[in-house]
Amino acid sequence: AAKADGKGIHRFYEREMHANADDRRLLEMDLRTVLNDGGLHLVYQPVVNAGDEKIVGFEALIRWNHPTRGYVRPDVFIPIAEEIGMIPQIGEWVIRTACTAAAQWPEHIRVAVNVSPIQFLSPALPGVVMGALATAQLPANRLELEITEGVFMNDDAATDAMFARLKAIGVRFALDDFGTGYSSLGYLKKAPFDKIKIDQSFVRGAAIPGNRNAAIVRAIVALATSLDMDTTAEGAETLDELELIRSLGCSHIQGYVFGRPMPGDEVLEKVKGTATLNPSGFLASRSPR
Ligand code: C2E
Ligand code: MG
Ligand code: MG
Ligand code: MG
Repeated sequence: AAKADGKGIHRFYEREMHANADDRRLLEMDLRTVLNDGGLHLVYQPVVNAGDEKIVGFEALIRWNHPTRGYVRPDVFIPIAEEIGMIPQIGEWVIRTACTAAAQWPEHIRVAVNVSPIQFLSPALPGVVMGALATAQLPANRLELEITEGVFMNDDAATDAMFARLKAIGVRFALDDFGTGYSSLGYLKKAPFDKIKIDQSFVRGAAIPGNRNAAIVRAIVALATSLDMDTTAEGAETLDELELIRSLGCSHIQGYVFGRPMPGDEVLEKVKGTATLNPSGFLASRSPR
């Protein structure tokens, strides 16, 4: 039937596109007031040391519980928020909320926050970061900003200046989703990253024999190590992936195999007395998902 009626298919796609445009306009309207509506919250996913499986930090991930649609995925609404100019406000809320949460954790545990490329070039960002650290009384080196290669598509001088201003405050930098961007690698020479996060598309399936991802992960680890950067493997789901990633030399691991993103009060329970947390106990208590 599809072949017989090309026009029908065309009309179908047209309708879909209009529906999406309407949908988008509604999402835009709701996003403009989301900070007053209280629909946002953060969840936190553990990052563990590959060696001893101790928690070294949590990545803060934003969640939007929409009054009628339920949860809207961040990779859907963050790009819209960027386009309508809401990212500075939402981003500030994320940084403040994450710093306040982390201030209640043991002091060796860091918090990582995602900063979108547009937010990264907002001249207000250093002030926002300093304000959030001061209010929460959080030392700057416990805050890690996760940035994607997308920031390097923007004006070089402004990007360099922003790195310098933030570095002077003392925060750490992680290069997120490494390997998925257009990456010329040239920026690795000068941008002050403390860590490369290997995208989950290279981690997943890496343990399947003959899969080329393992070779790619090994090469990224070698690159990071020679540049004196840590590596976090993102999205390890299975014990096979965990073992392989460990054998390839990644220094840190983040993925469902250790824990899904969890609400802040669950984090508090988990990190209470972390100094003596038994790593295999942590591994054993992980729910088999
Ligand atoms: P990301 O920063 O790369 O975050 C990692 C994503 O992978 C998260 O999805 C996390 O839940 C998911 N993940 C972690 N481990 C596993 C695993 O083992 N298996 C699978 N299948 N997934 C795993 P999430 O929370 O949906 O976030 C998606 C993206 O949205 C993030 O990617 C980040 O780019 C963006 N994002 C999230 N929160 C924020 C925020 O506060 N601000 C900004 N600007 N972007 C955010
Ligand atoms: Mg991230
Ligand atoms: Mg990532
Ligand atoms: Mg991502």
